[in-house]
Amino acid sequence: IIVMDQVVKRFGDALVLDHLDFQVAKGEKVTIIGPSGSGKSTVLRILMTLETIDSGLIHVAGKPLWHEYRDGRPVPASEAHLRAMRKEMGMVFQQFNLFPHMTVRRNITESPIHVLGLSKAEAEQRAHEYLELVGMTEHADKFPGQLSGGQQQRVAIARALAMRPNIMLFDEPTSALDPELVGEVLTVIRRLSEEHDLTMLLVTHEMEFARQISDRVCFFDKGVVVEQAPPEEMFAEPREERTREFLKTFI
Ligand code: ATP
Ligand code: MG
Repeated sequence: IIVMDQVVKRFGDALVLDHLDFQVAKGEKVTIIGPSGSGKSTVLRILMTLETIDSGLIHVAGKPLWHEYRDGRPVPASEAHLRAMRKEMGMVFQQFNLFPHMTVRRNITESPIHVLGLSKAEAEQRAHEYLELVGMTEHADKFPGQLSGGQQQRVAIARALAMRPNIMLFDEPTSALDPELVGEVLTVIRRLSEEHDLTMLLVTHEMEFARQISDRVCFFDKGVVVEQAPPEEMFAEPREERTREFLKTFI
C-alpha cells in the first residue's frame, strides 16, 4: 500500500534519504528502528506530505503521492491531489499536537466536519466511538491541559482514527511520556493492531513492543534500509554488523 522507490531527500548539504527503497503491504504492521538522525521521522513526514522529496517515486494506495498524471504525463501534484492523498493516512506525533483551546471532543470532530464534510452530530458520534476505543469517553469535555501525557496521546490517536485512514503512522508515540504512562498508550496501539486491519507504520525505541506487534522490523541507518526481517529474526540474529551494534545499546 506504500511504495517508495529510490527516494532522495536532502536538507541543504545533508543527504537524509539516500535512494531509499521501502514498501509496506496492505494490513502489514511495520516498525522502523534506527539511530537518531537516520531519517525515520523524515519518511513519515514525507508520506504525510509535510516534506517534499528531491527525487524518486512514492505511491500510496496505488496512486502517486507527489505527482499526478495529466494526459498521460507526470506533473507535480496539485493541492487537491495532495489533499485527497492525505486522507489515506493518519499520523500520531511524539508531541501530541492537540489543539489546546479546544475540548477533547472538538479536537476529534474538527477534521471530520471541515475536511470530510460530516455533520456535527455524525462527527460527535464518531468521536464517541473512537474515544471509547482509547478508553477516554469520560474526558470528552476536558481541555488537553487537564489531561496527563498518556491521556493526551490517546486522544491524539482517536483524532487520527476519526478520519478513518487506511494507514496509521506513529512517530515515537511514547517517547515524550513519563515511564508510568507509556504502558497505557502501547496497550491502545497494540489493541488497534490486533483488532483492526489497519496498515501501521511505527517508529519506536520500545523494542519489546516492536517485537510484539510487528510483522516486520526495519532497521534504518543514514537514510537507507540496512536490514529488515520479522521481529523474531531481527532481534535474535541480525545479519548486519550495524544492526547488532545498534541493538546492543538496548540491552
Ligand atoms: P530521531 O531518532 O532523533 O527522531 P530520525 O531518524 O527521526 O531521528 P530525522 O528527523 O528524519 O531523523 O532527521 C534526519 C536528518 O535530517 C537529521 O540529520 C536532521 O537533523 C535532518 N533534518 C530533519 N528535518 C530537518 C529540517 N526541517 N531542516 C534541516 N534538517 C533537518
Ligand atoms: Mg524522529
